[in-house]
Amino acid sequence: MSWLWTVADMIAITAGRPVGNLPTGITGISIDSRTVKPGEAFFAIKGDRVDGHDYTSFAVANGAGLLVVAEAKLPALGRLTVPMIVVEDVLAALGKLAIAARQRTSARIIAVTGSVGKTTTKEMLRQALALSGRVHAAVASFNNHWGVPLTLARMPADTEFGVFEIGMNHSGEIRPLVKMVRPHVAIITTIAPAHLGNFNNIEEIAAAKAEIFEGVEQGGSVILNRDNAQFEQLEEAAQEQGIEHILTFGQHAKADFRLADFESTTTGSTIWAILNGETSELHLNIPGRHIADNAMAVLGAVAITGANLDRAFEALGSLEAVKGRGQRHHLQINGGSFLLIDESYNANPASMRASIAVLAETPTQGHGRRVAVLGDMLEMGEFSAQLHEELAGPLLAAGIEHVWLAGEAMAALRDALPDSVTVIWFPTTAELTDFALQWVQPGDALMVKSSLGLGFGKIVAALLDKY
Ligand code: ATP
Ligand code: MG
Repeated sequence: MSWLWTVADMIAITAGRPVGNLPTGITGISIDSRTVKPGEAFFAIKGDRVDGHDYTSFAVANGAGLLVVAEAKLPALGRLTVPMIVVEDVLAALGKLAIAARQRTSARIIAVTGSVGKTTTKEMLRQALALSGRVHAAVASFNNHWGVPLTLARMPADTEFGVFEIGMNHSGEIRPLVKMVRPHVAIITTIAPAHLGNFNNIEEIAAAKAEIFEGVEQGGSVILNRDNAQFEQLEEAAQEQGIEHILTFGQHAKADFRLADFESTTTGSTIWAILNGETSELHLNIPGRHIADNAMAVLGAVAITGANLDRAFEALGSLEAVKGRGQRHHLQINGGSFLLIDESYNANPASMRASIAVLAETPTQGHGRRVAVLGDMLEMGEFSAQLHEELAGPLLAAGIEHVWLAGEAMAALRDALPDSVTVIWFPTTAELTDFALQWVQPGDALMVKSSLGLGFGKIVAALLDKY
């Protein structure tokens, strides 16, 4: 049996107090009582909404072999017969395990941050590296003060490539996380308005992302987007941190990993990438120029870590889109079919533009329409109305003639669109769902996108359910 951690190591690392008849080791770590598996340890983390200590009995019922709980919460847990490690602070204990996981590995570590494209890039890296060695990568968007330590603590000792997503809503959040991760390669996908409500301007966002340089290993590399307006600011910040290798990707003639050309195809795109002076033509299985941009960062990281580039080319040719981020469904309707592009996971001005561009290049059938089904972009603060209004430009440029909207903030876009566009607006997602179910037609291509808080996943689910 190969353990993720032996319990003896866990006790030593967390300085915890063992209680009960402890197992020799654990096969995994969970913080979710609903999905914990037999043999795994359940860490009772206190989140924004719930405290894991309130769910320990569910975790036990689901087979958790070990609980890691806080001393102060012990009296409230009642009589538990399951073995425990009792610590002062459970999140801190997870952090200690994370640091130990990083210390024991000889894996090449890659960290990804940026305003958009972190998860997409992380998943592309996972697939691009998988043919070169054992990859450990974050689940979903596990990129915050618990997601990053959890991902690290879950990293098996024999991992060869570790891929981490690091996110932030406020300045100061990336610093402690990257110091745990200590990447050999740090990627900043792009800087764009996201969580702008928490910042005064985009330079402040770039400065917060630049915190990632502070954790890069001695002799390590950073990969920056050469086409980004904040490139020079980031380059300077990296130099200030004494980073030795500052590399770039993008369409810019001076980019180290250069996207020389791009062409949409029916299933994705063909790109021409110049890496180390050599041009390669490769296919990407997911449409969109933004995917091609991410691919250049991915190929740069593959090249730097010494993984196999040809294998990475192969993997990028058979990429699978992630749920809620560009997944495509061909659904049957009245003897024909329509295309549903599910972008319901999240939205900000940059990703809205990327998805609108993809919709514009998506073929329709017969009299089918290209329909942008859009919901509010949240956390835009005082810039909200302006940023929603400004989507009119890309929609018009893309020739989108049907725009279905929901949410208070989207009223600004409704008012900004000219009469040449058929605009439907509802205050709520539920009303828009009913409308979409009724009015989608054979041949249509619908692109559904919104901030997660609007619940646009329900529109997708309802369409999948009915058609
Ligand atoms: P989060 O902060 O929510 O974790 P993220 O940075 O992980 O977001 P993704 O989930 O990868 O971002 O992508 C979010 C959206 O942005 C998706 O709609 C995706 O298609 C789009 N996107 C991905 N990469 C880029 C890019 N380089 N530029 C613009 N949009 C992108
Ligand atoms: Mg993410």
